[in-house]
Amino acid sequence: MTHYIFNKLFSLLFFVFLLPGCNNPAPKNQGDTRISKIDSLKQAGFEIIDLHAHLKGGLTMEQLLEHSQKTGIKYGVAANCGVGFPVQNDSDLNKYYNSVKDYPVYHGMQAEGREWVNAFSPDTIALFDYVFTDALTYFDNKGRRTRLWMKDEVFVEDADSFMNYYVNQIVEILNNEPVNIYVNPTFLPEIIREKYDELWTEERMRKVIDALKENNIALEINARYKIPSAEFIKKAKEFDVKFTLGTNNGANDLGYLEYSLQMIEECRLEPGDFWKPKK
Ligand SMILES: [Zn+2]
Repeated sequence: MTHYIFNKLFSLLFFVFLLPGCNNPAPKNQGDTRISKIDSLKQAGFEIIDLHAHLKGGLTMEQLLEHSQKTGIKYGVAANCGVGFPVQNDSDLNKYYNSVKDYPVYHGMQAEGREWVNAFSPDTIALFDYVFTDALTYFDNKGRRTRLWMKDEVFVEDADSFMNYYVNQIVEILNNEPVNIYVNPTFLPEIIREKYDELWTEERMRKVIDALKENNIALEINARYKIPSAEFIKKAKEFDVKFTLGTNNGANDLGYLEYSLQMIEECRLEPGDFWKPKK
């Protein structure tokens, strides 16, 4: 009898507590919670600027500005510039600049691949408020052009040798390319991503952080890939590296910078820890 009652009670509880949860849509105020988080950080003196947005996948500047209005996030919008990208030379870059220059956003240039340094003139680059790059594209130790987000272009025979080579690439890029921000930082290809904490050793973190500091380059806290780790960010702060917030949207997915904002709190960042374009 006791057993029967227990079973009945259990089924009842199951229906009352569990089932409705399965059918419920996300709470209506979810967007508002994320917006109030942005509001409260702004009240605490932070400027919430997403400096890594792209007009791609059909996203228009008008839609971006609407999202900005709704969320309170300011934007920096960047053209993807380099071999195989929509903007490949000075004339493309000028045309792009003229098409966006009157909009109330920061104007950025995402330098893609390593060839960009010679593909655009300093005068045209200077039209932009800032320039950033990532270290996802390079030639590997066998001379193969590697893009770390493309599975079939990534060869990892030994994770440690891969990391040593990759960290040297990052440092080379930061030492040699005239950029303001290092974006998609510490990104790992899918095949070794689970070992992030193990592979980003103290020594490797320090090499990247030293290069950022020496070259006065800010470190993006990327919301899409949730990188770098809190540990990396805390260490960078220790060495007085400046930060930016960025999404790197693929299309109409600008979002609310959740990971980046969470890191502000978790790593106890302060308004003075952030970099923004002068213009
Ligand atoms: Zn990007």
